[in-house]
Amino acid sequence: MTGLIGKTLNNGNYEVRELIGKGGMATVYLGYQKNVDRQVAIKVLSAQASMDAEFKERFELEAKTIARLQHPHILPLYDYGAQDDILYLVMAYLSGGTLENRIAQGEITLADIERILREIGGAIDYAYRQGIVHRDIKPANILFDGEGHALLTDFGIAKLTERSAGLTGTNVVGTPAYMSPEQAQGMEISGATDIYALGVVTF
Ligand code: ATP
Repeated sequence: MTGLIGKTLNNGNYEVRELIGKGGMATVYLGYQKNVDRQVAIKVLSAQASMDAEFKERFELEAKTIARLQHPHILPLYDYGAQDDILYLVMAYLSGGTLENRIAQGEITLADIERILREIGGAIDYAYRQGIVHRDIKPANILFDGEGHALLTDFGIAKLTERSAGLTGTNVVGTPAYMSPEQAQGMEISGATDIYALGVVTF
């Protein structure tokens, strides 16, 4: 969907500038919000996923999930919208890359590990207290801001614990390498599920 580059969304307020990356069902662009003069990240649901009612519902749930979370280590949502069949989320743009990149670049100091754990552990604890289990804690979903602080992102498959029937039914979703045994077996999950995955990230 590079066709979006150079286009605007929301009556010209968001300019789509560069491709940042592509995930499973969405593409993330570097954007510019004109009225307040700042860079933003714009996540657009892929055209294929837009035609699927379940993906659309999940994308909307992702927007609502992040919107109810206000924490210094959870990537904030600025806006959510639809235009000409394009569904998009507008989020803070983080320039520091992912923990996955950082790990690939070489060793991380103990002091940095301690700080990342404290920041992301705090985010997981807070989300759980709001009734949300992330279900996909992994280095690719931990981003750094310009100051090197870690923020948790990608609540695309998060689950509201008070909902008995999840959107994904009995399907197992998540990333196998980081998944807790209960999540992998499709059993009931809890806050411990995200803590398990954070343990794998630490390892
Ligand atoms: P999936 O959703 O399938 O797990 P993913 O986590 O790889 O995919 P996305 O969350 O869709 O992908 O993000 C795609 C790319 O955009 C990743 O490289 C991610 O680091 C980057 N990215 C996502 N959000 C932001 C942001 N707010 N600021 C800067 N880069 C971002």
